[in-house]
Amino acid sequence: MTSKTEYYLEKEARYGAHNYHPIPVVLEKGAGVFLWDVDGHRYYDFLSGYSAVNQGHCHPRIIETFIEQSQKLTLTSRAFHNNVLGEYEEFMCNLFGYDKVLPMNTGVEAVESALKLARRWGYDVKGVHPNDAVIITCSGNFHGRTISVISFSTDDDSKRNFGPYTPGFTTIPYNDIPLLEKALNNKNVVAFLVEPIQGEAGVVVPDDGYLASAANLCKKAQVLFIADEIQTGLCRTGKMLACDHDEVRPDIVLLGKALSGGTMPVSAVLCDDEVMLTIKPGEHGSTYGGNPLACKVAMTSMQVLLDEKMAENAAEQGAYLRRELVNMDHENISIVRGKGLLNAIVINHPTKDAAWEMCLKLKSNGLLAKPTHGDRIRFAPPLPITKEQIDECLEIIKNSITL
Ligand SMILES: *Cc1c(COP(=O)(O)O)cnc(C)c1O
Repeated sequence: MTSKTEYYLEKEARYGAHNYHPIPVVLEKGAGVFLWDVDGHRYYDFLSGYSAVNQGHCHPRIIETFIEQSQKLTLTSRAFHNNVLGEYEEFMCNLFGYDKVLPMNTGVEAVESALKLARRWGYDVKGVHPNDAVIITCSGNFHGRTISVISFSTDDDSKRNFGPYTPGFTTIPYNDIPLLEKALNNKNVVAFLVEPIQGEAGVVVPDDGYLASAANLCKKAQVLFIADEIQTGLCRTGKMLACDHDEVRPDIVLLGKALSGGTMPVSAVLCDDEVMLTIKPGEHGSTYGGNPLACKVAMTSMQVLLDEKMAENAAEQGAYLRRELVNMDHENISIVRGKGLLNAIVINHPTKDAAWEMCLKLKSNGLLAKPTHGDRIRFAPPLPITKEQIDECLEIIKNSITL
């Protein structure tokens, strides 16, 4: 480790909260699929900011919009109107096919907003007795870090000693239709919140048809189907939304992360009037939500995904990457899974920190990835990656996978 890298690591360790355990690399520049550290080493980015940078680092069109709008108007608050919000809302509703959009900032705020909408809809439309609403969630979920959202986490690290927890949630296994059907047999259930693929859990892909069956059961039970597409959406899995693979139209869609191409926190809740209009003026909000800078940047970020056919490329390169990883047939890789460019390998090795050690080797060889849950490594590069670049990455992986 160079003294330059050490300098920055020491500063963070000394002055920053210790709520992360990063790979020891200090980055200072990014372009497309590449990142550079403070010593000028170049890396392939195989995390993409947890899929916030689908469009690639510092995409020129997104940065141009960012600079232009930031020199004109950045924030008005929602006390006044601005001349970008309405056009952004129209753009999003047309693109995704919903009546309305609610703009927020971070992903977890979109989740919280959806939980509020679901409860409100449950009381005002479905007729559930006030304070009795139940929302079904899945074990292994990741929906963010607020108290309410960790209240239905099943991950001990995320939850331990942060109680008391928010009531009104019940948890069933992921990818289990019979138990969902059973849980829906309760008049107080207002929503089912689900990730189309569980990203943080290590890219857990449900069976084909799971989302469609779940959405159908919800419809029959008069329960809102909420798809958290914050990580799986926006072309990451080879379609605009991961739900598109199952031809499911969720009642509520949550977007975040790549909605701004990695430039700033921008999130959104999409749904129809029956749900969205249950919240009236003054009953929910956000100082930064719907700010003109975010709205402009989000429109360009979406247009870049469409113009550069990033869904198509993610589908093609992702299939190629998985096929070649399987063909590698390495004894240390027990599972290769994913959809589009949201992939993971599961490591099978007697060493306790094998996945971490492999990520350090990957770094030395020019590729950045991060282990999750001990033995899983996510492979999720920015979507413009080419076949030639994937070939180079496969070489790096091959040279790093043996400890
Ligand atoms: C990242 C993520 C969130 C939370 O987003 P933040 O911007 O970190 O609050 C919620 N749901 C899913 C599926 C995510 O991947």
